[in-house]
Amino acid sequence: MKSFQVDQNGYYGEFGGAYIPEVLYQNVEDLKKNYLQIIESESFKKEFALLLRDYVGRPSPLYYAKRLSNKYGCKIYLKREDLNHTGAHKINNAIGQVLIAKAMGKTKIIAETGAGQHGVATATVAALMNMECIVFMGKTDIERQHMNVQRMEMLGTEVRPVTSGNMTLKDATNEAIRYWCCHPEDTYYVIGSTVGPHPYPDMVARLQSVISKEIKEQLKEKEGRDYPDYLMACVGGGSNAAGTIYHYIDDTRVKIVLAEAGGKGIDTPYTAATIQCGRLGIIHGAKTLVMQTEDGQIIEPYSISAGLDYPGIGPIHANLAEQHRATILAVNDDEAMDAAFELTRLEGIIPAIESAHALGALSKVKFNPEDVVVLTVSGRGDKDMDTFINYMENKKNK
Ligand SMILES: *Cc1c(COP(=O)(O)O)cnc(C)c1O
Repeated sequence: MKSFQVDQNGYYGEFGGAYIPEVLYQNVEDLKKNYLQIIESESFKKEFALLLRDYVGRPSPLYYAKRLSNKYGCKIYLKREDLNHTGAHKINNAIGQVLIAKAMGKTKIIAETGAGQHGVATATVAALMNMECIVFMGKTDIERQHMNVQRMEMLGTEVRPVTSGNMTLKDATNEAIRYWCCHPEDTYYVIGSTVGPHPYPDMVARLQSVISKEIKEQLKEKEGRDYPDYLMACVGGGSNAAGTIYHYIDDTRVKIVLAEAGGKGIDTPYTAATIQCGRLGIIHGAKTLVMQTEDGQIIEPYSISAGLDYPGIGPIHANLAEQHRATILAVNDDEAMDAAFELTRLEGIIPAIESAHALGALSKVKFNPEDVVVLTVSGRGDKDMDTFINYMENKKNK
């Protein structure tokens, strides 16, 4: 049987691989040679599990959302990644990768960040593990996300402003790669999602796979069977989704529904729905679907959610979409915002706007009353309060 997991050459179907400049070859090759052995070693497993439990607060609860279930006519469980330390799933990956960096003898870590969430997660783990840390961030994003910049600085991380291009995530990523090229000996590059050259997408998926491992155990206890009928998650680069589906990816009893950011609509230029609007290309070292013009220039994506506006998509998800293993739905800004308010009023949970895209997909699926649905709430909405308040004000004034 064919698998939807990565193959020996680092591909998911036709997507993935490592398209990198010569100067990075050794770094990526070292990582490729070592990551599986480290992840599967007893010492890594023990330390990772202990930190996930005592520092992050795992297992994250699987919460039966009764009022939300009534609304959509099925049984909805929420996987509560919003309750993790630092407020989202990103900390799982950051801890795992910094442990890998240490095992490889690196003393410095670097990361890229857009909205600042991955930067904060990495800065947090850098403080915890006493590693020097530089986070590259576009100047535009620094101005938009001041609180996260201050958090990183308080944690002892240097935030390095990037002034090339549009001064956003894509430019920060390029700058981080450039820095890594010049400091291969002592530096490890922590990528924040299932993107980048092989082995990053597979490594990040494995580090986030604790999410579906827990779902299995929790469903067994609550439903008497360890699989749901539906798994739902939002996709930016695809890491919370990859973690949610990891242990079910080849189990076709389980339907997979992924929500990407439609922005103002996939028929407008203001969208981040890469799977539906992108074409095959290469971005940040991987062959995948990319938002690009006719002649291959990357199009700056748009979404109300800062965590979903990446112009590429994890190769794992590009393949799931192409093979029709997953259903991909575009959820627009206003649909996501309404879904966030709905969850808040029905269950008393304020989700991150990213996560609200997964919730916004609920009304687009036809469920049966006995269907068991697990939807991952990737993060909490504290960071998005300004956007929520502005949205409410604008609605009132209309
Ligand atoms: C960063 C982020 C995302 C998007 O990243 P993925 O790699 O697609 O999971 C989703 N939700 C939250 C809360 C985030 O911070």
